[in-house]
Amino acid sequence: MANVNSIVLFSGGLDSTLAAKVLLDQGIGVVGLNFITPFHDASAIASEQAEALGIELILHRTGDEYIRLIANPQWGYGKAVNPCVDCRVAMCRVAADVMREREANFVATGEITGQRPNSQMQHQLNLIARESGLGGFLVRPLTAVVLEPTEAEKLDLVNRGRLYGYTGRGRGHLVVLAKRLGIKKIPQPSTGCALCEKSYAPRVVDLFKYELNPSNWDAEVLNAGRQVRLSPKLKAVIARNESQCNTIEYLYNKSDAKPAILFKPESFNAPTVMIIGTDEIDDEILQLGESLILEFTNLQKVDQNNKTIRVKYGNKTNPAETIYQNQIPFQKKHNRESL
Ligand code: SF4
Repeated sequence: MANVNSIVLFSGGLDSTLAAKVLLDQGIGVVGLNFITPFHDASAIASEQAEALGIELILHRTGDEYIRLIANPQWGYGKAVNPCVDCRVAMCRVAADVMREREANFVATGEITGQRPNSQMQHQLNLIARESGLGGFLVRPLTAVVLEPTEAEKLDLVNRGRLYGYTGRGRGHLVVLAKRLGIKKIPQPSTGCALCEKSYAPRVVDLFKYELNPSNWDAEVLNAGRQVRLSPKLKAVIARNESQCNTIEYLYNKSDAKPAILFKPESFNAPTVMIIGTDEIDDEILQLGESLILEFTNLQKVDQNNKTIRVKYGNKTNPAETIYQNQIPFQKKHNRESL
């Protein structure tokens, strides 16, 4: 195995690709560390970029602890529900563990002073280094020259004279640097993290308002289709297309799934629905499931007398299913707001 000197937080975007390349050009061994969260998955582009650079890439999937952190950030949210400082601290803590495991010398990131108001102002960069426990062993190769020298630089683990002093938001100078350093495939700006999108925030806020113990599974559900709050206890997820029908069924069957009921239309073309908050059925919940399906179905194409829906319920040790047929008349009903 090649000598590993550094662990680089690696999204595969322009900044982290450059940070890795700057270190590689100093002869420093690099292992990339990519984080997959329910809100951001850039693992495909990160793998592509890592291969182009010839570095190993570790994929780290976050779990329940990350969702708890999003729910209660110590340093607050940005413009939407993005707790970027907490998130960066958490990622750097994981990187610190990997650094110790792999006996690397330091951790590096592609952060640039002043590039992001929520997490990359100078005091926040200092805070992230301190709170992650990395201290002077967290290096930012693209902006190091405008920061105080780190321990890693003082110990000559990395040559400060060959690091950069970029600040602010511009991308043009970074593209120029990438070309100069011989990076053939310049990464495009990514779609980014859903937590930064204001339109996504209501479903996250709803989750944290009604779910006392939010889990990674709850967060995965947020991306699975239309979300409808039915009551403080019950929420529905309704597929918008075939792919989401499959995703909802996959989530229902997961070992870490919360109590839920799955409604799968069988005799007609309609969305799969999952009601979360109970795994027990009665007439009321069956009618609720059917009414939700019909609410988001083209009723003209459905045979009034042939509505067959497979209903899965019960807990993991005692799963059960039943067929539900033609119980309520066709009608568009309910006036619920999607999240
Ligand atoms: S944008 Fe998302 S992934 Fe990035 S630091 Fe902020 S919360 Fe974390």
